[in-house]
Amino acid sequence: MVIKFILTAFLIYITFVLFRNSKKLSGKNEQDQNTPIELVKDPICETFVEKDTPYKVKLYDNLYFFCSEECRDKFINSNKKEG
Ligand SMILES: [Zn+2]
Repeated sequence: MVIKFILTAFLIYITFVLFRNSKKLSGKNEQDQNTPIELVKDPICETFVEKDTPYKVKLYDNLYFFCSEECRDKFINSNKKEG
């Protein structure tokens, strides 16, 4: 009778561990399925910024992305000087 009780407890424990591990794995997969945010280099301060930044400039059919208004303005000014 005691052995039967131990076996039942052991089975419950195994089920619990497997359930926990599968939950962990599925959580990991969900993270991988998320579309990664595309990063682009800020040409002024050379940091990486997300593509959905509001600070972007279109110049000669190229899009440039910036971390801040300051970097964007610097870029615009430097391009004005060069012609
Ligand atoms: Zn910047």
